[in-house]
Amino acid sequence: MPDPYQIVCVNTEHPHRHIIRVGTGHGSGLAERLWSVEEVRRALDENNAFFTVSPSTNRIAYVHVDDCPEPGCTVQTIQTYPDAVPDNNLDNLRECNW
Ligand SMILES: [Zn+2]
Repeated sequence: MPDPYQIVCVNTEHPHRHIIRVGTGHGSGLAERLWSVEEVRRALDENNAFFTVSPSTNRIAYVHVDDCPEPGCTVQTIQTYPDAVPDNNLDNLRECNW
């Protein structure tokens, strides 16, 4: 398996905070590569891994493909597994500034 990518920032859109872009980098918090959520989903399908790191506990959470949980919404997105601690949940990462 290739090296996993660390997600350091996200961009979301209304109304359900869908993740539309992520930035990956190497722990410094600086994003080196911009991915659309479609690119991340394709990479996950090809056995690449993406993870986040909690700033408070250094716990790692891996990311999986997911659909928006809001009823009636069919947007395809990505999410961390539910055991993620709150500050490494994708929804709580900083905003990417490109
Ligand atoms: Zn939605």
